[in-house]
Amino acid sequence: MQERIGFVGLGIMGRGMVANLAAKGYRPTVWNRTPGKADGLEVDEAEDLAALAKGSDVIAICVSDTPDVVEVVSGLKDGLSEGQLIIDHSTISPLETRRLALELVPRKVDWLDAPVSGGSEGAVQGTLTTMVGGSEADVRRARPILECYSTTITHLGPVGSGQLAKLVNQILVVGNQLAASEALLFAEAAGLDLARTLNAVKGGAAGSWMLANRGPQMITNNWDPGFTIDLQQKDLRLVLDTADKIGTPLPGTALIFQLYRALQQSGLGHEGNHALIKALRQLAGEISRA
Ligand code: NAP
Repeated sequence: MQERIGFVGLGIMGRGMVANLAAKGYRPTVWNRTPGKADGLEVDEAEDLAALAKGSDVIAICVSDTPDVVEVVSGLKDGLSEGQLIIDHSTISPLETRRLALELVPRKVDWLDAPVSGGSEGAVQGTLTTMVGGSEADVRRARPILECYSTTITHLGPVGSGQLAKLVNQILVVGNQLAASEALLFAEAAGLDLARTLNAVKGGAAGSWMLANRGPQMITNNWDPGFTIDLQQKDLRLVLDTADKIGTPLPGTALIFQLYRALQQSGLGHEGNHALIKALRQLAGEISRA
């Protein structure tokens, strides 16, 4: 029998994931803190988190940060019962993830951390990369659900491993973002045609998802977020906190963290993470265009 799915958090990512669940034959029950976010989706809306938990076998969460997941789980608690599975798609602290999972053990509620990558486009197209931590049995149970919005699903190990792999992913994302920003700044200053330059380099060894998807936005000064600077900064904080605990030096990532901090302080936290180029433009003395 098909599992009943509850989904918490209809932001940029959650909305696309829920639309894919509905398109693949599920009828999710959803809850979002701000009302009205489920408009236009083929779903049922729960009155509150406890009601969502009572009516679901599997509960997926996709909210912003660690304290937000803690708050959501606390709201779900009154409705939780033995045998349920929570799948957390948010990117949060691996240590806090392990604590949350342990807290639910006496209730016999299982936990998978399943953070995703692939941007807002991946959520809409159902082509996300999902990094999973938890037991083999829970991953098997979750797979038909994850396959509705993911094309790559990797089981990394026990609870917390998915979040750790996502932090690896974020080190790569911001490194690619800095490279794309420096390259386009250089092309601009050298007087190259930016669209032609992008076309020339994006398919070769220098190509990246960031360059292909955010490059066109960067050269047209379109700062609409697929992923906001505020959330990117949150992920880098998780990376640097974890690196500090395990004693790994990450000088490049620490530098990018500071550049994003400068953009946040300029009031740009709501813009897309590709606005990193604005920090470089400021360094280059081009403040007016930033
Ligand atoms: P978003 O558009 O800002 O949406 C955040 C969602 O979380 C909203 O539904 C928001 O509800 C909800 N929320 C935040 N705090 C909450 C709280 N305390 N209680 C209940 N709900 C709360 O963010 P997003 O881009 O969808 O990202 C969601 C998660 O996916 C984040 O952990 C992010 O790092 C991760 N992620 C994002 C991307 C991306 O490209 N966007 C890619 C991979 C992973 P309201 O509507 O009430 O604000």
